[in-house]
Amino acid sequence: MHISLDKQVALVTGASSGLGAAAAKGLAEAGAAVVINYNRHGEPAEKLAEDIRQAGGKAIAVGADVSREADVERLFAKVIDTFGALDILLANSGLQKDAATVDMTLADWNAVLEVNLTGQFLCVRAALRQFIQQGPRPWVSRATGKIIHMSSVHQLIPWAGHANYAASKGGVDLLMRSVAQEVGEQHIRVNSIAPGAIRTAINAANTQGDAERKLLELIPYGRIGEAEDVANAVVWLASDASDYVHGTTLFIDGGMSLYPEFRNNG
Ligand code: NAD
Repeated sequence: MHISLDKQVALVTGASSGLGAAAAKGLAEAGAAVVINYNRHGEPAEKLAEDIRQAGGKAIAVGADVSREADVERLFAKVIDTFGALDILLANSGLQKDAATVDMTLADWNAVLEVNLTGQFLCVRAALRQFIQQGPRPWVSRATGKIIHMSSVHQLIPWAGHANYAASKGGVDLLMRSVAQEVGEQHIRVNSIAPGAIRTAINAANTQGDAERKLLELIPYGRIGEAEDVANAVVWLASDASDYVHGTTLFIDGGMSLYPEFRNNG
């Protein structure tokens, strides 16, 4: 199977680090022009764009806070100004602000919901408007547009001490499936990726030393994931190789969602 995203334009939010950066790189390697969104960290985003251009690809970095409507509108206007169209959105930005629910501040609840859920809504709405306005581009893809939500195993697995995060990802699941039901007729494909434990900044404290050993007990496949494990799936989901995949969540978790506590008879 040969995957080419040649002549396609992809926007990746929160792409200055971690899964977003790896996905942007993977999409560019597959031939897409890539818009690398960042919130605060312009330098690594600009460096990634430069690396992609040096390798012969097309990329720009654009700062925008995905939880702010005006920023999202400006981000999408920049995509169209620069590359003339949009084919792929990876709504990836996310954060954690962990606390037991009894101690959680409203500010920390709101901060997580605003980025992880409202941010995805704002970006998806802007992408849908663009896909509908530009119409099908059959010379680049069978679908009129592709949306990939970055969710988490915690759209399924409850997570004590992280109620805001789990609620946001549970929300992403029904956002994704509702939108998929709504726009399938227009040949816009909408799916989610639900990573388990992948080695990035968001979980650096849990992926080394004793914490890593404890975490591995939750992963039947026996290793922590790497950002490339997720990036490869992003490229496939963005391509026509997955053209009949719509409204589903692809778990990339080494089996974390298989209730591993039951391995030895529960
Ligand atoms: P990360 O912290 O490296 O990436 C998160 C990115 O989101 C950062 O680049 C950050 O700048 C960006 N961001 C935060 N607030 C933003 C805002 N207001 N506007 C724009 N961008 C903003 O961590 P990561 O692991 O790469 O996380 C990426 C996504 O993957 C998140 O949605 C996260 O919930 C999800 N995820 C990660 C894992 C994992 O194990 N790493 C597991 C499940 C889900």
